[in-house]
Order: sequence, then structure tokens, then C-alpha cells
Amino acid sequence: MAPSLPFAFAKSNLSAVDVNVISPDRIDADDLLISIHEDRIKIHNDSPLIHPRNIDFSINNHLITLGKFNSNRILINFHRSPIEDSEQDDWLNIRFIAMNQPATIASLCAHASAIAHWHNHHQFCGLCGSVTEIGKEHSRICQNEDCNHSQFPRVDPAVIMSVINEKDEILLGRQASWDENRFSVVAGFLSHGETLEECVAREVKEETGITVDSIEYIASQPWPFPGSIMLGFQATAKKQAIITDDDELEEAMWISREELQRKRALKEIFISPKLSISRYLIDLWIEQK
Ligand SMILES: [Zn+2]
Repeated sequence: MAPSLPFAFAKSNLSAVDVNVISPDRIDADDLLISIHEDRIKIHNDSPLIHPRNIDFSINNHLITLGKFNSNRILINFHRSPIEDSEQDDWLNIRFIAMNQPATIASLCAHASAIAHWHNHHQFCGLCGSVTEIGKEHSRICQNEDCNHSQFPRVDPAVIMSVINEKDEILLGRQASWDENRFSVVAGFLSHGETLEECVAREVKEETGITVDSIEYIASQPWPFPGSIMLGFQATAKKQAIITDDDELEEAMWISREELQRKRALKEIFISPKLSISRYLIDLWIEQK
């Protein structure tokens, strides 16, 4: 039986509205705003959905419509000014919001965060360098009449996979930059000209030296860091010897269910919280006993 873990960031339950830049005098009384500064979102009265009366429009703001949630129009408030020292604690990243807000609200914030990142990073045309303006469906249109190039928001596919060996152990690894004792399953970005299955096999081989087969798709999770989707797989190892020489992973290991349970109890291993597909893949293997 599959573990019943809802993924964070799925189902933002937004219905589409025309995408527009909104000036502060065009805000409706029942609009709700999500204020974004870089990769952080403002929390006001314990909620990231803020009524316009609680937003300071005298600072450098920029508003666009995101969609409709219940009966409220949701606007992204691009907070361009530096965050005041006294307000630093009110601005949270998406991971923290996912652990502290209802799932639907966290998903809404993830959606807003990914779209805001897209607009912030495409203010100039990649072909001619001219300024772009917002177009239909969050596209960016080059304002140089001779160019007029339009580009749409992209989602970057990444694969994440549990690899199981013939002794029914799972492959876990850690990157040097992670918190101490934090381990996860292997993941990586899709390359051009590659199928998802080829990507799974390549990433596992590159990061751990393990050859896999029987690659099976399991599930997916929107991953707003900044704009990906995680495609989850389970694969079987053909060869067991681990080689971590490509600098990606600091350490990798095979571990049994019992050993993982023991090391987690001793806090010698930490795995992802129950919001991520990484954790889902590990829990799925535990349940498969
Ligand atoms: Zn252009």
C-alpha cells in the first residue's frame, strides 16, 4: 500500500484570470495580495494572503494578477524595496511556509513564487536585450518593434529516484553543503535529448557509480526552487559497488529499513520532512516490505 502523503506545492486551486499589471488604484476591496521579495513571502496576521489595506503602496511595488482563489482575485505584489530590519522575521521562504500553513495556501504561495521568479529574471529580451513587458499567460514580450520576441514561463523537469538493491536496501546520499547527517535519494536535472528513464540511469551512475534498470515512474511534485517539477521514479540496482567521485555527493550508502530506523532514532540520519516526494519515495520503499 502506498503511503498517503500529500505533496506540498500541488493543487494551488487557482482559476485563470487575464494576466495584467495592476496599479494600486485598480485594486478591488476583496483582492488578496501575496507580497514577494526575492525568495521570501510576507506573513501578516499569520497569513501570506494579505488584504490590500495592510500593504504599504508608498514603497516600490509592482502588482500583477495571478488567478482567482475561491472568490478572491490573487495579486502578486512585487516588493522591490529592501526589507526593513524590523520586518525581517515577517518574511519567510516557501519551505517554511509549507511546514506552517495549510497545504492549499502553501501551494498558492509556491505558484506565486515561481511566477514571480520568472518575471523577475526575464525583464530583458534574450535575443536583442531590449526591455520586455508582461503579455498573455505570464509571457514576456520584447518591446523592440523589430524583434517582438515572446517567451513563456518554463518549468524545468528534474528526476528523483529511489534505487533498491537485491538485498532490498535503499541508496541514500548526501551533498557536502547539506545539514549534518541529512541524507536523501538521488536527484538531478533532465538534459536535452534525453528520456526521463535515461536521465534516471545517468544521474544514478554519475553520482554513485551504480547501474540501474527496471525504472518505474511513481509520482510527481511541483518544486518551486525556483521553477521545477520533480518526477519520481523507483529503480533496481544491477551493480552494488558505490563510487562517489564526481563531486556531486560527499557520501552515498546502501541502508536497510532496520538500520535506517535505528540511525534515525539516534539522530545519526535525517531524511526529508513529510511534504516532499523525496520522503514519499523512501516511505514507499519502507511500506513495500
Ligand atoms: Zn528582443
